[in-house]
Amino acid sequence: MRTPEEYQSDILKMKANVYIGGKKVKRDDPRLKGGINVISKTFELVEHPEFKDLLTTKSHLTGKRINRFTHVNQSADDLMAKQLMTRKICHLVGGCIQRCMGCDAINGLSVATFAADMEHGTDYNKRFTEYLKEFQKRDLTAACAQTDVKGDRSKRPHQQDDPDMYVRVVERRSDGIVVRGAKNCITMSAIADEIIVVPTRAMTPNDTDYSVAFAIPADTDGVKLISRTSSLRAPKGLDMPQAQTGDDEGFIVFDDVFVPWDRVFLCGENKYATLAAHLFALFHRHSYTGCKPATTDVVTGFGALIADYNGVYNRPNIRDKLVELAAVAELVFAAGIASAINGTKTPAGTFIPNEVYANIGRRHAGLNYYHELELLAELAGGLPAALPFAEDYLNPETKPLIEKYIKRRPDVSPENVYRCLYGISNILCSSLGGVMAVAGVHGGGSPVMEDIAIWRSYDFEEKKRIAKYLAGIKD
Ligand SMILES: Cc1cc2nc3c(=O)[nH]c(=O)nc-3n(C[C@H](O)[C@H](O)[C@H](O)COP(=O)(O)OP(=O)(O)OC[C@H]3O[C@@H](n4cnc5c(N)ncnc54)[C@H](O)[C@@H]3O)c2cc1C
Repeated sequence: MRTPEEYQSDILKMKANVYIGGKKVKRDDPRLKGGINVISKTFELVEHPEFKDLLTTKSHLTGKRINRFTHVNQSADDLMAKQLMTRKICHLVGGCIQRCMGCDAINGLSVATFAADMEHGTDYNKRFTEYLKEFQKRDLTAACAQTDVKGDRSKRPHQQDDPDMYVRVVERRSDGIVVRGAKNCITMSAIADEIIVVPTRAMTPNDTDYSVAFAIPADTDGVKLISRTSSLRAPKGLDMPQAQTGDDEGFIVFDDVFVPWDRVFLCGENKYATLAAHLFALFHRHSYTGCKPATTDVVTGFGALIADYNGVYNRPNIRDKLVELAAVAELVFAAGIASAINGTKTPAGTFIPNEVYANIGRRHAGLNYYHELELLAELAGGLPAALPFAEDYLNPETKPLIEKYIKRRPDVSPENVYRCLYGISNILCSSLGGVMAVAGVHGGGSPVMEDIAIWRSYDFEEKKRIAKYLAGIKD
């Protein structure tokens, strides 16, 4: 397994193909540092007594100890360990841990490639397994590029006026394929070793060229990563772990990119491209049942702390809000456990989460996140939006005045009140806080997509039978 330093030195060696703020930059650009800090946690903690059993596991391919973010789940226990790991490690970075996307992609592809081979006699699973061995051995990180730019939303890929609105194969060669198109909203793409591409939606027989899945190094020729970075406002002079965090969301252009066959995992099999799209989303929604409760824990923690500092912690209006937050977090987490326990071992050997519970958990989280922020804003009062900057807090001229007037309970230091409000301000008022709120709704698929998945897999017929029995209807 790699150390954080090895991960960082590996990505710094990559070719410059990241664009931020009008310039092509290398991966040592300071705007990428916050995201690198987040990913580094997943390497740093593998020997930590509290984390090592969660963050590492045994590879089912080689028997070697690997980072769990490179593991393909073999059992319900694996899924629950991933969920708990995600919740706990997200606490340390105050939100999204970002490395789960690649993990969810390898899990989805392990099943879709196997199923495609069963029907078509292809060797995608063999190629994928060789790739996975390398992925585990080199302890790689991957962004998962699923979300195509999609053009006119009412049209399927082959119906678009511009055929490049979904990533597609433009050339099949003896040594590989050439792909063109663009994916957007791709988390950590500028700081990942690899980009794993899976389709974004169900593909019809007319969408053959779009039925493609593959993996490439993130600095492959023709890949342009146009990155939007966001961060928390680092309080200069005040050490706060939360402020180390940052994020990058890539608009990835595949400008006729060559992919060798050993890294192509589906090419033309529309039924299994659909399955790959569906399974990445399923695994990712299960991951959300770990990270979203963690995000709610952070909101709850700051809400409870400021109420405590304000001297009103036990008041009924405060209690109601904190209990509501706890109920959202634990219902989403419980849905993840139910999804794992009721999961299925596939013929590929991969253990997949139960679809209904994973989607219901993700849906509940997505529908609630802005409400959670509203509860935090209510608990905190207006000051997070108007808090003096840390430079002013630390300025000898203004510090005593800020400390005198920011004080609440007599036994709580003004600095602790300031720190607490600063943390809340980061959640509610920073660029990263805004990105995370939209991610809370759309990341992993908007709630409407969970509705579609639930509609597809929930047993409504059984409910009709219950009604008929109770009404004495015999047909
Ligand atoms: C911060 C963040 C991080 C993300 N990270 C990743 C990532 O790492 N990898 C990845 O692949 N994706 C990622 N996503 C993308 C995410 O999965 C998508 O945003 C989500 O699936 C919605 O797709 P969209 O943004 O294209 O919205 P759209 O599809 O444009 O949807 C916009 C609205 O139009 C409606 N709509 C769309 N099509 C139809 C239709 N045919 N009929 C009726 N209504 C329709 C939708 O319901 C929605 O209300 C991320 C998103 C965010 C915000």
